[in-house]
Amino acid sequence: MAATPAVSVVIPLYNEEESIPDLYAELSAALEALQQPYEVIIVDDGSRDASFERLKAIHTRDPRWQIIRFRRNFGQTAGIMAGFAAAAGAVVVTIDADLQNDPRDIAGLLAKMQEGYDVVSGWRVQRQEPFFTRRLPSISANWLISRTTGVRLHDYGCTLKAYQREVAKNVRLYGDLHRFIPALASQMGVQVAEIPVNDRPRKYGRSKYGISRTFKVFLDLIGVIFVLSYFNRPLRVFGGAGLFTGGLGGLILLYLSYERLIAGRNIGERPLLLLGVLLVVLGVQMISTGLIADMLMRTYYEAQGRPTYFVREHLRRPD
Ligand code: UDP
Ligand code: MG
Repeated sequence: MAATPAVSVVIPLYNEEESIPDLYAELSAALEALQQPYEVIIVDDGSRDASFERLKAIHTRDPRWQIIRFRRNFGQTAGIMAGFAAAAGAVVVTIDADLQNDPRDIAGLLAKMQEGYDVVSGWRVQRQEPFFTRRLPSISANWLISRTTGVRLHDYGCTLKAYQREVAKNVRLYGDLHRFIPALASQMGVQVAEIPVNDRPRKYGRSKYGISRTFKVFLDLIGVIFVLSYFNRPLRVFGGAGLFTGGLGGLILLYLSYERLIAGRNIGERPLLLLGVLLVVLGVQMISTGLIADMLMRTYYEAQGRPTYFVREHLRRPD
């Protein structure tokens, strides 16, 4: 039986037939140099070129390379999730198939992890991409994500990252959220570090993404901010706003009641009446929305059997 791998390398791959021979050679050399048992999990994300045939040939020669083949193109995030689910290593590393990341940087990620970090992210200091369509959107997105999530990284978009097994097994990703893993993982209380890595121009084929990705990333960011700050208790957000508007409306109506009942003035024509009623109705609406969202969250956690906490250590009574 083969040794349990210390490192699992997960690679999402879509139509990269030309890159595969170089990928096998470079990655194998880098992993052999680590002198630890490893496995490579390639997720063929519905490629329509000869990728799968080439991968299959590699798997036959070297069974440490597992291939998961999707039925159709599900996207890079889905590929990473499938790889995480299959990974057996204590540390899981993600890397792109096009060799824009340099496999020799994996050693650096693992060394940093030894210092006690749970996630180590690559930072492409010298990016080999066009400025306006790639680097500028990326710089602003990284700034925004860092500011809003509190997890400060220079390069969320870099696929080359290493995760402790527990992190990889517990993040739930959908849509295009893989770049947000460090921010989402921070919810578990993990320590995140970053190290500079080499970035190289794409040698074969073309990028699978266009400019539209920029907008998707910004929309995803809004979703992530909500998840990070209020996911647990939506009632706090909606309820807080509801209490404020409802309270304000209540005060207005109280004042109008005084005007009508004690001072005996006519209030029927006053715009304030409308405002007061509006605010009270709005407040009630918001509190009930909060309650419903709260119940949805409970169902979410219960249905997935997800813990609402993550334990770092448990010092047990010795048997
Ligand atoms: N990829 C994938 N599914 C997709 C799109 C991309 O698995 O639907 C893979 C792709 O093969 C590569 C990685 O994700 O290994 C990053 O894609 P790409 O190099 O096109 O992105 P870029 O480097 O231009 O940001
Ligand atoms: Mg690339």
